[in-house]
Amino acid sequence: MLTLQQTWSSVMAHTPCLPAGEVAIAEALGCVLAEPILADRDLPPADRSAKDGFAVRAADLRNAPVTMPITGEVAAGSPAQPPVAEGACARIFTGANLPPGADTVVMIESTREAGPGRVTFTVGESAGAHILRRGENARQGSELVSAGCVLGAIHIGLAASAGRTTLRAFRKPRVSLVTTGRELLDPGMPAGSHQERDCNGPMLAAALTAAGFPIVDALQVSDDLDAITRTLRQSLATADAVVLSGGVSAGAYDFVPAAVTAVGARTLVHGVAIKPGKPFLFALAREDRPIFGLPGNPLSAATCLHEFALPALRRMSGWPEADCRPLVRARLCEAVASTAGWQHYVLAKLAWTSSGAEVTPVPSRSSADLVTGARADGAIVVPGDAAGLDRGALVDFRPWRVWP
Ligand code: AMP
Ligand code: MG
Repeated sequence: MLTLQQTWSSVMAHTPCLPAGEVAIAEALGCVLAEPILADRDLPPADRSAKDGFAVRAADLRNAPVTMPITGEVAAGSPAQPPVAEGACARIFTGANLPPGADTVVMIESTREAGPGRVTFTVGESAGAHILRRGENARQGSELVSAGCVLGAIHIGLAASAGRTTLRAFRKPRVSLVTTGRELLDPGMPAGSHQERDCNGPMLAAALTAAGFPIVDALQVSDDLDAITRTLRQSLATADAVVLSGGVSAGAYDFVPAAVTAVGARTLVHGVAIKPGKPFLFALAREDRPIFGLPGNPLSAATCLHEFALPALRRMSGWPEADCRPLVRARLCEAVASTAGWQHYVLAKLAWTSSGAEVTPVPSRSSADLVTGARADGAIVVPGDAAGLDRGALVDFRPWRVWP
C-alpha cells in the first residue's frame, strides 16, 4: 500500500506530455501553447476612435463654444478616410480609423446639433483625446502570449485578433472509458433489485468532458477476465489513456488487475492509504499509455478521478505539475471529527462569500451514497495526521465541479 504522496509522485513521473501539433482555435481551450503567439500587425493597426463623436483638430476648439461644418463620416469598418480640413470636422464612431488631418476625438456628449451639416462644440478638448494609438497594445512581431500558457478564452480571442485559426499546442489525451461489473445496466433499462444502473459511466464522462478531455469511447463490460482484457486492448488501441471503473479490489470478481497484466501493462500503484479510494490502480501500457483503475463505488471513483486521473491527464496535456491538482483554501463552517490515521476526504458544499470561500461538510453514509454526493461540490482533504478539524479552520478543498 502506497501513501497518497508516493502515489501522486508515481502518477506524475509516469505521465509524460503528449507531442505538440496544430490545434484549431475552437479546440484549443485548456491546451498548453507550444510556441508563442506573435502579433501579425500593430494592435490596434491604426489610430482609432474610442468614442462616438467628432474627429477634429484640437487647435480649432481653442475658442469653444465653436460651430463647424461636418465634412465627412467614418464608421468602424469604413476604409475611406476623407481628410479633415482646418475649421471642419468629421462624424466618427467607436472603432473607426482617425481620418487624416484630425488629431482629437470629441465625444458626442460634448456637442450639440447646429442645423443641417453643422455641429457646435460646447467645450474644448485636449489634443489626442479619445484616440487608441496604433500599436499601443502591441507592436507587429511582438509576443502576445508566451509558450507554456494554458489557453483560456481570452487567449483564444487574442489569437483570433492576431489572425490565427490554428495554434501549435500540446495535444490533449483522448480517453477511453470502461465500466466493469456484471450487475451493471444502462440507465434506460428496468432494473431488478440485484442490478445496478451504470452511473459511473455517465458521471465520469461528464467530469472528463467538463475538464476538457475528449472521450473516444465509453464501454461497458461484465466481470470476465477475457472480456475485460479484450476491451482494454481495444481501448489502448484507440485512446491515449484508459479510465476504468470497478473490479480493481481483491475480490473473486475483480479482474481488472489481471487484465492489466494480460495486456502487458506495468502496474505501478495498486492500493493507496486514502479513504475512500483505497483500491485505486495505476498502470502504464505500451507507448506510455496510462490506465487508471478507479474503484466501483461512485464516490470512491469520483475521489480517485479528481486526485489522480484528471491531474495526470492535465500533465499529459503539458500543464505545469503545480496546476494539475487545483485546491481551494476555504474556511470550515462546522467541525469535522476524524481519528488520525489515513488521509481521507469529507464531502462538502462550497460557498463563495464576501469574506472568501467557505465549506460546509455534508455527512455521507458510505462511498456508495451518491445522493449525498449530489449535495456536495467536492471534498475536504483531511490529512492523515489530523485528529479532527476545528470550526473556523482554514482547510484544503478539492473542487469536483467547474464554476462558470
Ligand atoms: P467494485 O469496485 O467493482 O467492487 O464495485 C463496488 C461497488 O460499486 C459495487 O456495489 C458495485 O455494484 C458498484 N459499482 C461498480 N461500478 C459501478 C457503476 N459503473 N455504476 C454504479 N455502481 C457501480
Ligand atoms: Mg465490480
